[in-house]
Amino acid sequence: MMTKEETEKFKQELKERGYKLTPQRRAILNVIIENEGRHLSPEEIYEFVKKECPEIGLATVYRTVQLLEKMGVLYRMNFDDGVSRYELVKNTADHQHHHLVCLKCGSIEEVEDDLLEVLEDKIAQKYDFFIKNHDVKFYGFCKKCRK
Ligand SMILES: [Zn+2]
Ligand SMILES: [Zn+2]
Ligand SMILES: [Zn+2]
Repeated sequence: MMTKEETEKFKQELKERGYKLTPQRRAILNVIIENEGRHLSPEEIYEFVKKECPEIGLATVYRTVQLLEKMGVLYRMNFDDGVSRYELVKNTADHQHHHLVCLKCGSIEEVEDDLLEVLEDKIAQKYDFFIKNHDVKFYGFCKKCRK
């Protein structure tokens, strides 16, 4: 979970990058920050934002998350259920964390550590390829579902 200071710092960074925080954009961003780790879809974001901004439309939410993705603020993921889900890019210098996807209950857990440095080094050398990021998902059964 992001602390209050982290959240404010994050919003300040957005401002410095020339990003205008309109009330609607701020509300959308707040929802994503408050639900960190939940990987919300635009529809789910819309359900939360509606409470604060009843006049907002689903199309605006879609447009805004796409814009934030282009700006490198949000990261879009697909978990094979045909739905795009979004999470914050906290530090653009860091690689994206990995996800553990339960095949039974659909829960998505995060793996905080990168752990791929050795593999990345090997790939970079062997294929002369500069790695910017990765998107790693592990499929299996969570602890609850194995009981
Ligand atoms: Zn990495
Ligand atoms: Zn499960
Ligand atoms: Zn995640």
